[in-house]
Amino acid sequence: MLDCVIIGGGPAGVSSAINLKLLGKSFLWFSGPSKKVERAELIKNYPAFPQVTGKELSKAFKKHVESMDIEMRGEVVTGVYETDGHFTLLVKDESFEAKTVILCLGVEASKPIGGEEEFLGRGVSYCATCDGFLYKGKKIAVLCTDKQFEHEAEFLAGIAETAYVIPLYKGYEIKAPNARIILKKPVSVSGDTRVRSLSFKDESVEIDGMFILRGSVSPSTLLRGLKVEGGHIAVNRDCSTNIAGVFSAGDCTGRPYQYAKAVGEGNIAAHSVVEYLTR
Ligand SMILES: Cc1cc2nc3c(=O)[nH]c(=O)nc-3n(C[C@H](O)[C@H](O)[C@H](O)COP(=O)(O)OP(=O)(O)OC[C@H]3O[C@@H](n4cnc5c(N)ncnc54)[C@H](O)[C@@H]3O)c2cc1C
Repeated sequence: MLDCVIIGGGPAGVSSAINLKLLGKSFLWFSGPSKKVERAELIKNYPAFPQVTGKELSKAFKKHVESMDIEMRGEVVTGVYETDGHFTLLVKDESFEAKTVILCLGVEASKPIGGEEEFLGRGVSYCATCDGFLYKGKKIAVLCTDKQFEHEAEFLAGIAETAYVIPLYKGYEIKAPNARIILKKPVSVSGDTRVRSLSFKDESVEIDGMFILRGSVSPSTLLRGLKVEGGHIAVNRDCSTNIAGVFSAGDCTGRPYQYAKAVGEGNIAAHSVVEYLTR
């Protein structure tokens, strides 16, 4: 069993990974698209780099982890479950077991759509490869938030009878004969015991299921029972959460949303993992 799984590839995740490696622990590291560093035009508050562009800092982070033979897997973790004092993490159609977890999830600009959490597991899914086959010959909606997920949207369209694909970015290239592109933001999913329809401001479509392909999952959906306060994961000074063995670092634990704070907390979380494992 792994000592730890780190979720999130931003500065907090980078720092957790570097420190866990230096501390000799076994871990896997997963992340959805991580673009917040690259997007910064000019950074002036990161120690040792008085004037650095986001692209330069991102490159430096990559170079650092590669130099230590640390691999980040570009996959989204769709669920974390606690069983008998350890954790099972779901990633596409695989699962991994770990003694501890560090959540470095960042903060999402977009809110979940109405009904998303209510219907999760009852027609709403985050995982194309795990649940796609359930919708063979059926009608589905696929919310695609990043170009990176287009192949998953095409895979789903290949299974379903009709796939209403909703790309939330410019320059989409979704090639599937039965994909119907909708260029509007969805408002809510609704239904009875299962999802039945997806509503936009001015119309709704009947569906049997909805796939939400995003680089992140809200913390309380990812891990049931996790204490969240004002939209942030509640942590103690040692970055521990209310669940023993689960630690958290970076923007997802609260303001200020800054690189140095994320990196500092990533360091603390890694050291706390080691203390927890020793205990
Ligand atoms: C345009 C811009 C400019 C900025 N300029 C500055 C600046 O000058 N100085 C400064 O200090 N800060 C700046 N910031 C803020 C800084 O980017 C953030 O504080 C920092 O990136 C936080 O790091 P993080 O690791 O906590 O989260 P993030 O960098 O947001 O990384 C979180 C990662 O977790 C991944 N993730 C989430 N859920 C899952 C899941 N379920 N499975 C797998 N992966 C998941 C996401 O895909 C993402 O890659 C700027 C931000 C922006 C957007």
